[in-house]
Amino acid sequence: MGSQEVSTADWQGKHVTVAGLGVSGIPAARALHERGALVTVVNDGDDERARAQAAELEALGITVRLGDGATLPPSTELVVTAPGWQPDKPLFLAAAEAGVDIWGDVELAWRLRGTNGRKAAPWLAVTGTNGKTTTVRMLASILEAAGLRTAAVGNIGVSLLDAVLGETEYDVLAVELSSYQLHWAPSLRAHSAAVLNLAPDHLDWHGSMEAYAADKGRVYEGNTVACVYNAADPATEELVREADVEEGCRAIGFTLGAPGPSQLGVVDGILVDRAFVKNRQKQAQELAEVSDVNPPAPHNIANALAAAALARAFGVEPAAVRDGLRNFRPDAHRIEHVADIDGVAYVDDSKATNTHATEASLAAYDSIVWIAGGLAKGATFDELVTGAAKRLRGVVLMGADRALIHEALTRHAPEVPVVDLDRTDTGAMSEAVEHAARLAQPGDTVLLAPACASMDMFTNYIKRGEAFADAVRARAEESA
Ligand code: ADP
Repeated sequence: MGSQEVSTADWQGKHVTVAGLGVSGIPAARALHERGALVTVVNDGDDERARAQAAELEALGITVRLGDGATLPPSTELVVTAPGWQPDKPLFLAAAEAGVDIWGDVELAWRLRGTNGRKAAPWLAVTGTNGKTTTVRMLASILEAAGLRTAAVGNIGVSLLDAVLGETEYDVLAVELSSYQLHWAPSLRAHSAAVLNLAPDHLDWHGSMEAYAADKGRVYEGNTVACVYNAADPATEELVREADVEEGCRAIGFTLGAPGPSQLGVVDGILVDRAFVKNRQKQAQELAEVSDVNPPAPHNIANALAAAALARAFGVEPAAVRDGLRNFRPDAHRIEHVADIDGVAYVDDSKATNTHATEASLAAYDSIVWIAGGLAKGATFDELVTGAAKRLRGVVLMGADRALIHEALTRHAPEVPVVDLDRTDTGAMSEAVEHAARLAQPGDTVLLAPACASMDMFTNYIKRGEAFADAVRARAEESA
């Protein structure tokens, strides 16, 4: 904490600088203004949209400075930042120099919860490199099945501030947190939390793998009941060991194998709990069947176990875990089955934007025609290709950095046929699907799991997934 610790009880006349007009900045500015703070919003951009947003805030009496997000307004007592802002920005350096605290949107929501006369619901938090959204939504589904008033919020696209200050009263929140958000949330204390996995991502922002891991590890700080880690990913367990937690808080592992004491795992197709039972040395509690998990791919069973662990830490009964998992429907473009054509399944995992996610989805199928490529964001593909080589029927590559994947295939899977599409226009996707269909044999899966970002060819991963699904459906109609 800096030297000018801000009391949340009294915002009257406090000079707060909100960094960034945007999904988190605007509600933050409004909430602080309503509480009597003197708010200045600073924003790098100065386009038409920013001006319209600024006008709305200015009408309320909030000061907005467009086109300069670098300079710290002189009287600032607290900075509240959008999570994505690079931590080495001059604004933050100036704040640190002046001993001014910097809070992210999550920290602000944490501090303001309960200040609107409603109960401050405990948080069950989830972070990790991949699987956050899925796990948080599974968790919310389980909590709902248990009859609890809950919502999936946070990095998932639902503002935490809106959730904690809105009209609805919650018993518990299922909170997705990104590493950026955790970086700026020093006093957050979740009831229980899970780190699903740790693989290099966003290292340009954090500066190093160590810094990235340390920010993820903050999610465990001050947990009261359970720190949930991935037994197959020792780095997550290490973060539990390093965390400063409340007395009596337990480390709970999840594994795709048979669980040891204080773990959840899988035995003969059954998800079992050997952590939240009376006698964990001798007893295990059945929670659900693997087939209750949607889709039952290995990485997704891991997500389900993590969600189940958090729900069980909160006291949810086994039957609700099962019902919640059964009710859960995955979001679009995450291992989404689009169609079967001539005995070949077409699956859209456009959300697999990094190699770690793609590794998981390639592991879910036995014989694959893989569609990949896009912006590699500095990734290498050797490990990914080596792991999947035996299961690849063929590969269709597209996008700006496809040569990197092609080179890895030449090195580690030279016998696998590769179609290299030398075009980056949007129409390339239908050509990719055509080539994939030609390579596939009955029983195979054509899998879009690009291992890359989409922005070289598409607006985002959603548009990429839609282009794939459209091309597949057009084929399905032709062949019908
Ligand atoms: P996040 O919110 O962390 O981005 P999502 O649930 O949206 O995670 O999934 C993102 C991508 O990661 C999807 O392509 C999905 O197939 C893959 N994925 C999901 N869970 C896992 C996991 N536990 N391990 C590895 N990859 C995963």
